[in-house]
Amino acid sequence: NNQIKVGIVGYGNLGRGTIEAIKQCSDMELVAVFTRRAPESLSINEPNVEVLHISSAEEYKNKIDVMILCGGSATDLPEQGPHFAKMFNTIDSYDTHAKIPEYFSAVDEAAKESGKTSIISVGWDPGLFSINRLMTEAILPNGATYSFWGEGLSQGHSDAVRRVEGVVGGVQYTVPIDEAIEKVKSGVNPELSTGEKHRRVCYVVAEEGYDQAKIEHEIKTMPNYFADYETEVHFITAEELKDNHSKLPHGGFVIRSGKTGNDNKQIIEFSLNLESNPEFTASVLVAYARAAYRLNKEGQAGAKTVFDVAPGYLSPKSAEDLRRDLL
Ligand code: NDP
Repeated sequence: NNQIKVGIVGYGNLGRGTIEAIKQCSDMELVAVFTRRAPESLSINEPNVEVLHISSAEEYKNKIDVMILCGGSATDLPEQGPHFAKMFNTIDSYDTHAKIPEYFSAVDEAAKESGKTSIISVGWDPGLFSINRLMTEAILPNGATYSFWGEGLSQGHSDAVRRVEGVVGGVQYTVPIDEAIEKVKSGVNPELSTGEKHRRVCYVVAEEGYDQAKIEHEIKTMPNYFADYETEVHFITAEELKDNHSKLPHGGFVIRSGKTGNDNKQIIEFSLNLESNPEFTASVLVAYARAAYRLNKEGQAGAKTVFDVAPGYLSPKSAEDLRRDLL
């Protein structure tokens, strides 16, 4: 068959969401899920999907067209991104904003060497929000852009919290600061740093007997993730974490408030309201997997970001059909 053959690396929230997203795409087939854990320890109930140890991925070089990397940004992707770009076309959701240029270079070098195509930092932010910021700034050069996130659970920041020594579980909610939103909507174009627009609220389960003050300090001073924000750390039990914090909602909006020639005010707003952040993010990854496959067929090797991918590549429709739909 001529379906695009897809593999998944890492079976967490995003990995699970990717399995569901692929099912909704008739032009794609999921071949295998690769994990660092013992494959038989994962309960994946998909009769036609192989569940394999990550070390066997190389044997699938000719059986998988695109590998969707679902590892965490903090420590998994910096290693897995360049590693898999040496063997496969890849998609990932790397979201440590400050380190994206460095990550891009590492993946680009690997992908150029192998002749593969890797689209990095795909998702909604970075991802769809980045595209909206770029487009609206190009269209309204005279103005200001505002991104607000939440209220919602941030995957990247929760991941970072869970990797702090002494932490056995935890989540992080991003909460927009109401006064900041009101100011922006009033049209005065205030200057606001990200830290002035959002608070970060963490719920953490600590290892028994571990120094909680040390954990709190470690989180609050973590560069890129928490150091520039008003951060709260609350210690809770594993039971409370399960009962009250196991849903993964998110959302947010990008607003560009600008003026054109005759002092006319023009406002563009793009917003997302997501019941499941990982399922939505995975759906974005899968659409970009189709793009990576096609770009690679055209010989466009190397690392790309969402800025480099024309929208038509995301659609299962042909360019001809898309042109017809435009009219
Ligand atoms: P998870 O913590 O659920 O999974 C990350 C990795 O950890 C998995 O690939 C898996 O690897 C391992 N893992 C998962 N569950 C377990 C477990 N129970 N025991 C041991 N290991 C486990 O992260 P998410 O899937 O929620 O998020 C991944 C990344 O996605 C985030 O770090 C974030 O950067 C990014 N993201 C980006 C967005 C965007 O808009 N750009 C939006 C949302 C998320 P393995 O199977 O190999 O063990």
